[in-house]
Amino acid sequence: MTLAIETSCDETSAAILKNGREVLSNVISSQIDEHKKFGGVVPEVASRKHVENVDVVIQEALDEAGVTLQDIDHIGVTYGPGLVGALLVGVSTAKALAYALNIPLVGVNHIEGHICANYIEDKNLVPPFLCLIVSGGHTYLVHVKDYGTYDILGKTRDDAVGEAFDKVARAIGLGYPGGPIIDKLAKKGNKDAIKFPRVYLEQDSFDFSFSGLKSAVLNYLNSQRQKGIEIIVEDVAASFQAAVVDVLVHKTIEGAKKKKVDSIVLAGGVAANSGLREELQKAAKKEGLTLKYPSIKLCTDNAAMIGCAAYYAYKSGFTSDLYLNAVPNLKLGERK
Ligand code: ATP
Ligand code: MG
Ligand code: FE
Repeated sequence: MTLAIETSCDETSAAILKNGREVLSNVISSQIDEHKKFGGVVPEVASRKHVENVDVVIQEALDEAGVTLQDIDHIGVTYGPGLVGALLVGVSTAKALAYALNIPLVGVNHIEGHICANYIEDKNLVPPFLCLIVSGGHTYLVHVKDYGTYDILGKTRDDAVGEAFDKVARAIGLGYPGGPIIDKLAKKGNKDAIKFPRVYLEQDSFDFSFSGLKSAVLNYLNSQRQKGIEIIVEDVAASFQAAVVDVLVHKTIEGAKKKKVDSIVLAGGVAANSGLREELQKAAKKEGLTLKYPSIKLCTDNAAMIGCAAYYAYKSGFTSDLYLNAVPNLKLGERK
């Protein structure tokens, strides 16, 4: 039985898993309402809220699963990437529990957790596959060769996809987090209304760049406002989202062909985006590729995905010692 703890950003979460893929509980306490008034996550507030919530959330996870701490075999915890103060709350809690219970501690990379959400969603999914990770702070195209073995084809050179969604949403005046709101508005808008740039970078590059697109949207909004022209938010949302999705779909399909895999997997908060899911599904079908993605609850931050990653790391012989520390800029595939 795995107990997993996730506190890297603004969700305090704890989960209990059996054999790595069977989720007995996955309790998520979101701080979104706390941060909304500031238009984004305030790190100091996040840390304090985690401290208040973490014990309660763990107890809820145990109760919901119908187990006690004595039933736990190992503890998985996110130690990076994320906000240092937020990560430290989970790491300290996990270390204290592992020490008190005298059971192994497994430090987990949060991004690896996002990938593993797919193993929970689809019990039959096995590597190799190509994974597009699109979250609030990261954008990676990764060839998952085996459990825990990653070959990074490309990553963003500036903004992450989720970050671009959130910044554009803020500029339109839509509130936080912007991704889900843009997704909803885009369904009612015309994606061909405004021509925003698609940045593909060098030929054969699997890297991404979204800051130019973000600036183009901000410039458009400013110029319309200056001219006193009414902004049709649905059209801006749809046109922006289409520009993002076009690039993501193109590079992902090319990556799958290059790596000769037959399944594509989505991960991270933006994997919840309906436009991305639809367009990638169409393109994958055309190429005879299978597309998989987690349910919405498993796309955004949760401890179940961390528990799954911890299980596979533990099974491969990896454990952390009690010197485990938070690593805010931890890279995918890196273990510290
Ligand atoms: P990271 O995982 O990179 O450390 P994070 O944990 O903050 O960052 P996630 O929880 O994976 O990020 O995802 C949150 C992001 O997903 C936010 O940027 C949010 O706007 C975006 N998001 C959530 N739902 C949608 C959606 N339906 N469409 C687009 N973006 C979305
Ligand atoms: Mg979050
Ligand atoms: Fe995340």
